[in-house]
Amino acid sequence: MFLSVKEMELRKIRFDENFAPGQIEFRGEQLEQASPLHATGSAELLPETDGELRIRGRYSVEMTAECDRCLGRARFPLNAGFDLFYRPMSFIARDEEVEIDEGEAEIGFYEDGGIELEEILREQVLLALPMQRVCSSVCKGICPVCGKNRNETECDCKIENIDDRWGALRNLEI
Ligand SMILES: [Zn+2]
Ligand SMILES: [Zn+2]
Repeated sequence: MFLSVKEMELRKIRFDENFAPGQIEFRGEQLEQASPLHATGSAELLPETDGELRIRGRYSVEMTAECDRCLGRARFPLNAGFDLFYRPMSFIARDEEVEIDEGEAEIGFYEDGGIELEEILREQVLLALPMQRVCSSVCKGICPVCGKNRNETECDCKIENIDDRWGALRNLEI
């Protein structure tokens, strides 16, 4: 859905949209969209700002990714709000010497008369996901000796000298 500045000049745009898996591009991020993404909110042109937009709303979706430890599926149900500001890209070109103070770090930029809602949502989802993607905080991962998923099968492998630095420390203490 294209959020057009021309339209915002006339009125605030309200949206209530469902995006099926595949409509928002998550390939290349090792991610899958496991449910429709539902987004509601509004987009408006802020008066007396030279084209600044405010886009706010909420979205919910379930994403899945490969677990960093066991390579199984990790589920991430997301439900979050956003409140974002965008300026025309021409703003940067015009004021090359403009210093961006810290308060402006949150501001994004748009060009070509508006911004795609899909692009905003994609960015919000990526920001919301944790750095470490695990299926569960207690995931036991894959055994480095026999290669079995230790969540599914207990194995009796002995893991020795996982980290030699601890061995070195022990020797120092003697
Ligand atoms: Zn796991
Ligand atoms: Zn094992």
